[in-house]
Amino acid sequence: MTEPIDQPPVAAELVAAVASLEPDIAAARHAELSETLHRANRLYYESDAPELEDAEYDALMRELVALEAAFPALITPDSPSQRVGSTPGGTFSEVSHSRPMLSLGNAFSHDELRAFDGRVRRGLGLPAAPEPAPGLAYVAELKIDGLAISLQYERGRFVRGATRGDGTTGEDVTANLRTIAAIPARLREPVTADIRGEVFMPKAEFARINAEREAAGLPLYANPRNSGAGSLRQIDPAVTASRKLSAWFYQLLEEQPEAPPSLGLDVGEAGTTDGADSAAPGVSTQAGALERLEALGLPVNPERETDLDIEGVIAFTERWREARHHLAYETDGVVVKVDRFDQQERLGMVSRAPRWAIAFKFPPEQVHTVVEDIVPYVGRTGTLTPVAHLRPVKVAGSTVARATLHNLDEVRRKDIRIGDTVILQKAGDVIPEVVRPVVEARTGTEREYDMPATCPVCGSGIVRDEGAVRHYCPNLACPARVSQEFGQFAGRGGMDMEGLGWQVLTQLLERGLVKRRGDFYRLTVEDLEGLDRFARKSAENLHTAIRKARRRSLERLIAALGIPQVGGTTAIELARWLAAEVPGNGGSAGELVGSDWLRRAAAHLARVATDESARFEEVEGVGPTVSAALAAWFGPEGPGAGVLEDLADAGVEVELPAPRAAAAAEGPLAGKTIVVTGTIEGFSREEAEAAVRAAGGKSAGSVSKKTDYVVAGPGAGSKLAKAEELGIPVLDAAGFRDLLAG
Ligand code: NAD
Repeated sequence: MTEPIDQPPVAAELVAAVASLEPDIAAARHAELSETLHRANRLYYESDAPELEDAEYDALMRELVALEAAFPALITPDSPSQRVGSTPGGTFSEVSHSRPMLSLGNAFSHDELRAFDGRVRRGLGLPAAPEPAPGLAYVAELKIDGLAISLQYERGRFVRGATRGDGTTGEDVTANLRTIAAIPARLREPVTADIRGEVFMPKAEFARINAEREAAGLPLYANPRNSGAGSLRQIDPAVTASRKLSAWFYQLLEEQPEAPPSLGLDVGEAGTTDGADSAAPGVSTQAGALERLEALGLPVNPERETDLDIEGVIAFTERWREARHHLAYETDGVVVKVDRFDQQERLGMVSRAPRWAIAFKFPPEQVHTVVEDIVPYVGRTGTLTPVAHLRPVKVAGSTVARATLHNLDEVRRKDIRIGDTVILQKAGDVIPEVVRPVVEARTGTEREYDMPATCPVCGSGIVRDEGAVRHYCPNLACPARVSQEFGQFAGRGGMDMEGLGWQVLTQLLERGLVKRRGDFYRLTVEDLEGLDRFARKSAENLHTAIRKARRRSLERLIAALGIPQVGGTTAIELARWLAAEVPGNGGSAGELVGSDWLRRAAAHLARVATDESARFEEVEGVGPTVSAALAAWFGPEGPGAGVLEDLADAGVEVELPAPRAAAAAEGPLAGKTIVVTGTIEGFSREEAEAAVRAAGGKSAGSVSKKTDYVVAGPGAGSKLAKAEELGIPVLDAAGFRDLLAG
């Protein structure tokens, strides 16, 4: 079968397989696939929360493309095969790209890479393999699994940055990009250019953030890609800044200076480029462009190879198949590009991707192992997490023997039993995940798992609240809970007492040297010297480290307290709110305040928790659930009662945060409080609330007399009724958009 001219390439055997379908069956399947893929795109690109694995998505897309190749009448302009990404959602202002930001065709095997080489050779009029192809060379780069961005530099200064969006129009995320250290504010030369690359979240940062979210009882990010995209598409640059994003760059569209013709492009064949903005003066290859990007001061991934033929490319993919697991960032494949720009121009593009490049995708690494046991672990908030103890197995670069199964509902949903052979992979190359049991391998000896009736650590009766997912130990003094609370406090995500690990902590708790958090600061060198394997010198070092950890930022202290539902972002916002509610003496950002301020703050929090707990919803991003968690924690009977006073007695000092940037106080919703309820077309809940904040308004979780507008969509319940009762204006999605537009 010959290849369709204007379609993305797809394996001939797949096309042959679908070609035998009855046309109406093909059409029905096409409609079904389109709907699934459109939905997957929305979840992936707009909400940064995919439900499908990338490999599943890719398989469905291949089937769709094969159907379209066999039944070209099924192709419509809005088919998922014809579109790039997804339309910007309205939270950010829009940016039109100077040139489209494209997608890439995919190859899943070496033969598909050879087929790509065959198409390139035919397109350039070169002989078929194995004949040599003079003048043809490929560049192989790692495919970074992040978020595509385009940066505008004017005379060397970074002026604007945008996401890919739908390829033509992206979202303006300039303020957030400015917080990323890898993106230079100034280039080494005063050039005007559009520079493209990938923003990503390093694996370690992904693991850190998910650990923090799990500890706070927040939903986890599926992988670094979605975590990175979610972090970049934040309305508050301070949140982006708190996540350590990085970037690699790979494309340069440099504006040509108005120079005499002698400085023009060296593109081999005259007239084959459009001259303007294709690359730098004198740069005529992808390899050259990467070097030029480096010379301008942009980070370029060093793991690349140039001057390859297709067998060299294949060797490159083989080399990285396993080695990629040891990189600090995630890569999901290799991007292969024809090196010479004149050849790229001649090959042009097809559908939504260039013909001169292809993305080879690594298969997701999955292995088989056996669940030897399922054991419940008691967490910091008392939650019991079933953990699979696995027969140790190597996957994605390390040996795995444990995998969290999250909760009992999840164990039931996946039907994982003790003794099962299971498929294991790593989410985002980092977190071991049991994908599913291999049901065919069951022998009948497998056992279903059930949660224990009593806490495996303290013996208290286990509780599961009506309608809730989690089982928990209700005993606040359960040793498992206490040791983890204190571990969180002293650990890296908390007050960061260097050198105080689990072994030291366990001894301090067992010997009764630490009973309250303030006791860490009351430890003497002699106390520490008495611990196992401690000598005078090591005791002195730890003592010094603990003293140093007496002075931290307020948001760090709040995060260290381990309040349920309060992750890093909420801790920042709560610190800002608290600093405004309880001013320091100088009132300036970065002001260092001590015991007197901490006592006043504690009294204020206790008062709000008892008398006006709804006021916690004044904190940016805090709704009724988090507000209730704060009230329960800081209330007179709560686990937080007396904690700040104790720390004040122990001499803890905190730095107050900067107040929210004044810009947020401007905009069409300045001074207005808005409550969003139900499903608002075109917005996720988070996006709608972020849009309110971006327009200078306050997004609140409950309706009161102070509410200015309620934005309601399908599914709105009691809040809508309350608004009607209080006579507060109610807007639908269209009204909301008008309001945002001022
Ligand atoms: P793609 O991710 O397969 O390839 C194109 C992108 O690769 C470019 O836009 C660029 O951002 C990136 N890239 C990374 N390193 C590069 C380099 N060195 N040179 C050039 N480009 C580089 O295609 P896509 O259109 O961005 O997205 C489709 C993919 O996204 C799917 O194959 C799937 O893996 C994933 N996806 C998943 C879901 C889901 O539900 N799981 C939904 C939508 C998309």
